[in-house]
Amino acid sequence: MSDPAKPIRRLVLALLLAAFAAGSSAAEQLRYVLTPDFERGFLRVRIDWKTEGRTRSGLRVAESWGRIKDVPALLKHVAFVGGKVRRDGALWVISHRRGATITCTYEVDPGRTDFSDWQYTHHPITTPKFFHGMGNAFLLVPAPGGGQPDQYETVLRWQLPAGAKAVCSWGGAGRAVGALIKPTDLRHSIYLAGRIKTHRAQRGKKSVTVAMVDRFEFTPEQLEQMATRIIDAQTAFMGDADFPDFVVTAIPVGKKLKPGDSRLAGTGLYHSFALFVAPGAVLNAAVEHLFSHELFHYWNGRMLAAKQPERLVFWFVEGLTDYYALRILHESGIWNARTYAHWINRHLREYAANPAIHATNEQIEKDYWNARDTVGEIPYQRGLLLGLRWHRLARDNGVPDGLDHLFKRLVARGRASALRVTNAGVRRAGVDLLGPWFAADFDRYVVAAQTIDVPADALRPALAGEYVELAAFKLGFDRTRSARDKKLIGLVPGSAAQRAGLREGDALLGWNLSKDPDQKVRIKVRRGSVEKTIEYYPRGENRAIMQFKPAERPR
Ligand SMILES: [Zn+2]
Repeated sequence: MSDPAKPIRRLVLALLLAAFAAGSSAAEQLRYVLTPDFERGFLRVRIDWKTEGRTRSGLRVAESWGRIKDVPALLKHVAFVGGKVRRDGALWVISHRRGATITCTYEVDPGRTDFSDWQYTHHPITTPKFFHGMGNAFLLVPAPGGGQPDQYETVLRWQLPAGAKAVCSWGGAGRAVGALIKPTDLRHSIYLAGRIKTHRAQRGKKSVTVAMVDRFEFTPEQLEQMATRIIDAQTAFMGDADFPDFVVTAIPVGKKLKPGDSRLAGTGLYHSFALFVAPGAVLNAAVEHLFSHELFHYWNGRMLAAKQPERLVFWFVEGLTDYYALRILHESGIWNARTYAHWINRHLREYAANPAIHATNEQIEKDYWNARDTVGEIPYQRGLLLGLRWHRLARDNGVPDGLDHLFKRLVARGRASALRVTNAGVRRAGVDLLGPWFAADFDRYVVAAQTIDVPADALRPALAGEYVELAAFKLGFDRTRSARDKKLIGLVPGSAAQRAGLREGDALLGWNLSKDPDQKVRIKVRRGSVEKTIEYYPRGENRAIMQFKPAERPR
């Protein structure tokens, strides 16, 4: 497409005209102007809100988001015209005359101007070249309730230097975009602008738009093709013909890695996926895995949302998402059996080595972020393994489409009647749809958090499983606290880390960690005035772990 901005501008105009024609019954209008200051490293925001019929209106931002503990603290010089303002934490309440237009301006300044540190990917940062932010981390939107509408005629205009481009989740690429949209979706969106490359492709009547900073070993076209294949595979699996226009962004974080190493993170947002990846990265199975996982949250997490507090059912929302993400990559032919086995095996091995293997849902709720690498990984691992186990058991118990029978039914209920996922609800529906055996399994693994046994024939006929003696993964120090304090904390006596020469308190200058016991970790430290790089295999003791490989076909 030569100029993707044009039809979008027409849409903005059409929306505004529609609002005008409909008079007072129209949705309220929200106009955002975002102006990144690339030289000084912050973003200026202006909001004009034409209210209807009320004398009191509220704007809010998330209190915290991902690793950001205090989102309101990132918003500087918040000022209002058009009413009297009272602030209550993350909420600004404006008293105004009936039908007033309120103007709010502020600056977004997280105190950083680059994405050099993986701890800060959630932050809304303006670098000299681009601005990248998720709405939850910087965007004030109308608060729910208080007689305020559920959705707004929203227009977003970017003020950018010549040659710069912009994209957002709900408007695609363009310097001026518009939509009728809910405030929660505005917040749950990605915003990227500056010196970026964009590419848009049709997918039937819908589109996939890619926007990225050009620092990778792949092109926007290649990223779009990867995304489109996986979207096609998942929509076919879910039988979903209504999948929306979709946006994928990618920005470089941290230092360029050695060939063969990879480091990435990603967040699924409203009709979009934000990818963070090391400069020079290639599109490999790790990117496909991550994208597939985040995309599947469209059904498991949004269409079928969790009841709060959602971490109590993260084993379902995160773990079953991982199960389906991997399985669909394999069943659609994007992955061969060997790649599928590799990832399943890796997760089985990490689960066996996880010291938090018996963490209950209540412990996950409490410590998900505090112990992200142990307790925080359990819901992913537990749900994936239960997916493998239950799909087999359900079919063995006379349900031909196995676990899908339960999962797809729950998604359909989420879509039709706004059903929310709870543990009690999943247990009840499982007994109903899969059989009485489900109750005991659920109580043993989901409630009592016992070690999950994955049957060797779980993935027949494509893959066969057997117990293999393997070294467990053991990093040998506390990764979360070490990353936070930039020094080595919690070194385990006798571990491979200690034998390789690491010492408690070593200043961390950089590291390349994997969770694979067969891949060396590399850590650069400073002790006194001496800097050195230490390498070792992150291995603990041997144990029997279920592993899969492509099945040999009977002759
Ligand atoms: Zn997830």
